[in-house]
Amino acid sequence: MDFIVKDLDNNYKLDAFRNKADKIIFEISSEISTANCPYCGKESKRIHSRYQREIQDLPIQGKKVVLLVSTRKFFCDNDACCKRTFSERHTFVDANGKRTKRLEKNILFTSSQLSSINASKVLKNSNVDISKSSICVLLKKMPCFEKKCMGIMGDYMNNLMYAMEHSYSEMKIEIDQILKKTDYTTEDENSIFYAVGKCLHAMLDYAERIRSNDLDKDTLDAFKYANNGLKHGIEVETITKPTGGITFPIQFPLEIPVRRIIWKVKWDARSKRQEEMYLKHLDGKDVVSTCGEFIERLKKLKKV
Ligand SMILES: [Zn+2]
Repeated sequence: MDFIVKDLDNNYKLDAFRNKADKIIFEISSEISTANCPYCGKESKRIHSRYQREIQDLPIQGKKVVLLVSTRKFFCDNDACCKRTFSERHTFVDANGKRTKRLEKNILFTSSQLSSINASKVLKNSNVDISKSSICVLLKKMPCFEKKCMGIMGDYMNNLMYAMEHSYSEMKIEIDQILKKTDYTTEDENSIFYAVGKCLHAMLDYAERIRSNDLDKDTLDAFKYANNGLKHGIEVETITKPTGGITFPIQFPLEIPVRRIIWKVKWDARSKRQEEMYLKHLDGKDVVSTCGEFIERLKKLKKV
């Protein structure tokens, strides 16, 4: 068991060890007989008193680990020093810390992957005692780590943007291919539904997470209505619409049938505002181009 202590700091030794039902206790102490005063730096050998500090360490085999660290109080013999006595510092824990640095690192890693409330639950499950608020305090204490968390968040938004652009181009390709056919099968209809739904989800995911004052909430509400309507099985309609023919160099007018998918969502939405916005901004309009325009606008938003 000595190696666990040596891993913390080579200058410490294991004095006693108790394996209890819910925790393992290690009593440890420093093998160095002197300590330097943290206020003036002068070395001291004169011991004033001893006490034990209780410090939580990484769990072992699912059990909570408690270090009882023998801590000496020394006299500072430097007349010029502002302090008469001082407590020895331990390399593996902050001056007044309750957890070893390696445990804090572990907690911070878990917290960077999860919300602090979930991190607290996960850590409790692996027998690390820490509250949600203590996690927040830890995160704030470490500015470099906060930056790292922001980095992870930044990557997350990039991933959502990628998902949005990717599902949009997939939808475009899918719709283009199916509309070239003269007959549509049920499978084709399902494919269109799936592609539109996926693109809508990715768009809403991105729009709802981006923090910007310039977000067009009206159009967002319109898309929310369309999204919920799709879930309720209301159809996206396929229409055939003639457009203007070629006039030059061919002199006769030509009508080219163009098929497109337009919004024709109708369902009894609880939010009348969303329905209103849908009717104003999307109803009867082209699915591909309305999505494409909104995505372009989302991408240009200034984040706050
Ligand atoms: Zn001193």
